[in-house]
Amino acid sequence: MVRIELEGVQKAFGEAVALECVSLTVEDGEFFTLVGPSGCGKTTTLRTIAGLSDPTAGTVRFDGEDVSDVPVEDRNVGVVFQSYALFPHMTVAENIRYGLRFSEPPRDLSADERVQELLELVDLAGMGDRDPDELSGGQQQRVALARALAPAPDVLLLDEPMSALDARLREQLRREIKRIQQELGVTTVYVTHDQEEALAVSDRLAVMADGAVEQVGTPVEVYEGPATEFVASFVGENNLFSGTVESREAGVLSVAVDADDPTGTFRVAADADTDADDIAAGERVTFCVRPNHLDPDANANRFPVAVETVEYLGGTTRLYGGWADREIVLRLPEPPGEEAVTVGFAPEDATLL
Ligand code: ATP
Repeated sequence: MVRIELEGVQKAFGEAVALECVSLTVEDGEFFTLVGPSGCGKTTTLRTIAGLSDPTAGTVRFDGEDVSDVPVEDRNVGVVFQSYALFPHMTVAENIRYGLRFSEPPRDLSADERVQELLELVDLAGMGDRDPDELSGGQQQRVALARALAPAPDVLLLDEPMSALDARLREQLRREIKRIQQELGVTTVYVTHDQEEALAVSDRLAVMADGAVEQVGTPVEVYEGPATEFVASFVGENNLFSGTVESREAGVLSVAVDADDPTGTFRVAADADTDADDIAAGERVTFCVRPNHLDPDANANRFPVAVETVEYLGGTTRLYGGWADREIVLRLPEPPGEEAVTVGFAPEDATLL
């Protein structure tokens, strides 16, 4: 399989800049996700890896080799797009076989043997003679996946392959894609705007905004340690606080959050990556606290939240409330009985941005 490197990739369509400057590395065999809001440049990045879009500047390398001038059919990549794009006049098996138009099947298999193997891999054994319109949306997308995998590509590129499916089917298919990816060990780049999906499937993910990469990391790193305000608010729910540093002591900052309330001074631990010594009193900082870290039983950093909306989600409750003119979101095991709930958080559960 292949390690993919993008270095300083830029793409402009006339005046419009789709990619500012994208540099990232996808390790051999990794399931890597590009996630971000609509228009942030995910598809353009994926098409650049595929060789379907020429970068205006920058380099794409496969295993250290510059492939910028290698056309798509010679890159040994399999691509699955949003729309299934199956040929309606061909059977399922013929559609999969179409994936072999540029190359021989792997391991000296005949084309028929390869098609049968792929039908089993994507759990459609026995359905090769059907027409695509005799399959469900999820099954059609599995055919598209089998077609992309037919030549045993070094790289699998998936562009929102499940956006046309309903939520339950999407979850099922994403587990299936993950299983197949692990079975084959194929380096995979997956595009989605759905941050929950990105956290669920990825070995690592890149969060993109406005044609640039905001942060790359494992799901836990990105969720627990967002690098920027954008990442903190885009990936999962979050509570953002801005304020002024009053003092610092042994890696813990006292921050007077912008609020009138006298309870508005919080103790925030600077993590190992942030050099707390560089942050002086008087400086402005922003930090975030995840809803699940706001705890009625916490001893530190307590403040009252006026309950506004309670959503029972089965097993957990999401609660929107207000404190000092700002919205606070909490996750509690059970709905609170009162109209106000006092919560706190440990200094180390706050993340400085
Ligand atoms: P979505 O999730 O909506 O598919 P995306 O993150 O994949 O969005 P891209 O499709 O990569 O975003 O587009 C990035 C930017 O480049 C957008 O502003 C888009 O309008 C612009 N763009 C993309 N393709 C073209 C094109 N062929 N001509 C002009 N502008 C384009």
